[in-house]
Amino acid sequence: MKRIAVTTESKFIKLLCRKCKNEQVTFSKASSVVKCLNCEEVLVVPTGGKAEMKGKKIQTLT
Ligand SMILES: [Zn+2]
Repeated sequence: MKRIAVTTESKFIKLLCRKCKNEQVTFSKASSVVKCLNCEEVLVVPTGGKAEMKGKKIQTLT
């Protein structure tokens, strides 16, 4: 967990995998594809600055 740079917009979000209903916490500005740890469904796709959420957002953690 040491790759995260500190910025004012840094957030962690909790996503629900649409495929297996696994809940997973991830960084809102992920710079690489985030996959579900359970079924490998893609949950977050980086799109040049702002990550696109593929999973269902449940909660924002601050
Ligand atoms: Zn899944």
